[in-house]
Amino acid sequence: MRYITFSIGTEEKFGAIVDGRVIELGMYRFPASMMDFIQAGKEVWAAAQAFCVDNPASEVSLNQLQLQAPLPRPGKIIGIGLNYMDHCREQNVKVPERPLVFAKFGTAVSGPYATIEWDAGLTNEVDYEGELGVVIGKTGRRITKAAALDYVFGYTVANDISARDLQFSDKQWVRSKSLDTFCPFGPAIVTADEIPNPQILTLRTKVNGKMMQDSNTSEMIFGVRELIAFLSHAFTLAAGDLILTGTPNGVGVFRNPKVFLQDGDLVSVEIEGIGKIENRVSVLTH
Ligand code: MG
Repeated sequence: MRYITFSIGTEEKFGAIVDGRVIELGMYRFPASMMDFIQAGKEVWAAAQAFCVDNPASEVSLNQLQLQAPLPRPGKIIGIGLNYMDHCREQNVKVPERPLVFAKFGTAVSGPYATIEWDAGLTNEVDYEGELGVVIGKTGRRITKAAALDYVFGYTVANDISARDLQFSDKQWVRSKSLDTFCPFGPAIVTADEIPNPQILTLRTKVNGKMMQDSNTSEMIFGVRELIAFLSHAFTLAAGDLILTGTPNGVGVFRNPKVFLQDGDLVSVEIEGIGKIENRVSVLTH
């Protein structure tokens, strides 16, 4: 299943996409938000799937909607750094012995087609990071690798936008990765049953149509199972948390010459079997 959050006027709605049309699940007997739906658990998910199969008709066409981030207010947003072999090779750094964990604030969340923006002068080195996003579906601690995928609700496409000048001068990443609009993701959350193996997915990032990242989740050093096990041994992973699993090679800061996002650029991230997000860049002058 593909689940989305969209707006009609100022109202936020939750729905499923079936054959290119949208079923607004909150109008029926289902939770009215993605977070409530995720937290409702497997039986409700199965009931919604059965309902959608039986009721494929809908008045709303997908292209009439304003899509929001599918989970507009995730619990935690957990970032993983240096998690692709090819990304370590391009920076000439050693492969980490354990996942490098950082946080992104929830106020950075943005829609799949929303504008990425920042104030002129705050940063001059804004970079893209195309990433597989994992949405947790069941709360747990000390989860084993073997059981880890049972805790996944679904997958999404994310761009872990990063202000490199702030990242490297701060020596700590949270500010540089948490500017408002720096966490676009979507367009949908694709449920885990449709992605039985998350480690075989092609991931591509383009800027103005030019290929910048062309890799595969098979290059991950710590796969989704390992990440869930590792993180949940330190803290509770809760239903509705979002994990950004790291980016492959080809980011702008390690190119020669370096490439940073500029006002007017269009940056897209596409992951096989999940979808594509596309965001215009705008540098704000006040
Ligand atoms: Mg990243």
